[in-house]
Amino acid sequence: MNLLEVKNLHTSFYTDHGVIPALTGVSFSVKKGEVLGIVGESGCGKSVTSLSILQLLGNKGKINSGSIHFKGQDLTTFSTKKMRKVRGNEISMIFQEPLTSLNPLIRVGKQIEETVLLHKEELSKIEARNHAINMMKMVGIPQAEEKYAYYPHQLSGGMRQRIMIAIALACDPELLIADEPTTALDVTIQEQILGLMKKITRELDTSIILITHDLGVVAEMVDRVVVMYSGQVVEENEVEKFFANPKHPYSKGLIRSTPSIDQEDNLESIKGSVPTPANKPSGCPFHPRCPFAMEICKSQAPENMYYGEEEMVNCWLYKEEVKTS
Ligand code: SF4
Ligand code: MG
Repeated sequence: MNLLEVKNLHTSFYTDHGVIPALTGVSFSVKKGEVLGIVGESGCGKSVTSLSILQLLGNKGKINSGSIHFKGQDLTTFSTKKMRKVRGNEISMIFQEPLTSLNPLIRVGKQIEETVLLHKEELSKIEARNHAINMMKMVGIPQAEEKYAYYPHQLSGGMRQRIMIAIALACDPELLIADEPTTALDVTIQEQILGLMKKITRELDTSIILITHDLGVVAEMVDRVVVMYSGQVVEENEVEKFFANPKHPYSKGLIRSTPSIDQEDNLESIKGSVPTPANKPSGCPFHPRCPFAMEICKSQAPENMYYGEEEMVNCWLYKEEVKTS
């Protein structure tokens, strides 16, 4: 059974300037113990997808339709209170900038300890403290007993992100959503943090949704890839198959513009930019940037084409009738 199943999700923001349709029919699933990568340029709807799952859309954002089944229950029907229990208990998250997510006035060890106590009420204070220190050791913080008493600003960016991972994992979540978790870190630290996340989640059998614009990270970390463009999923596949044979022109463009993957060194960036949700092009939303665009692409949105259960592409090039007409 899938741990998470997102089906035909539509999310909009209601602003003073009108309704902005940020997600227009997003579907994907996450299996137990799997790392799913969601990729795309910024503005494609990756973060809105994770905020929809967590129901952290703020008072302007709203899920209009679709479902988000987690362990068989539809999260979109949960009350705020019930959802708060799910967040941080069963679904945890790590964001990009740890300095803004950590409380600057509370010692880092204490912040882990508080999360532990929140979720494991049966523990005594001393047990929670020991658990927190063990978590710090697990995420590779040297001299954990001593660092327990540090304030966030006394630690490096990489160490702070390790603290965030410890907090996120303190309650044994079944699903971890990591939104650009290493983007703010330099490359060496980035590698260490990703390696750490992979190791720990394998040990704890946690599933991950890894949101990133970096295909190099995807190649290293994930089991399956979902590519998003303009508020929808345009391709989905297992990671090896995806890199060996990307189908959607947008995926091909992303791969060609990633230096660590295209060894030939003929990097080409994708021309143009991601449309804003308010100015979504007609037909296939990628058509103004697509080198393969046909007449039909301008007026008709492509269907999802499936190859088995795991492989999907949303592009007219893969519809026999269109290709041969
Ligand atoms: Fe390009 Fe047409 Fe495919 Fe869209 S549907 S990606 S415009 S070929
Ligand atoms: Mg984002």
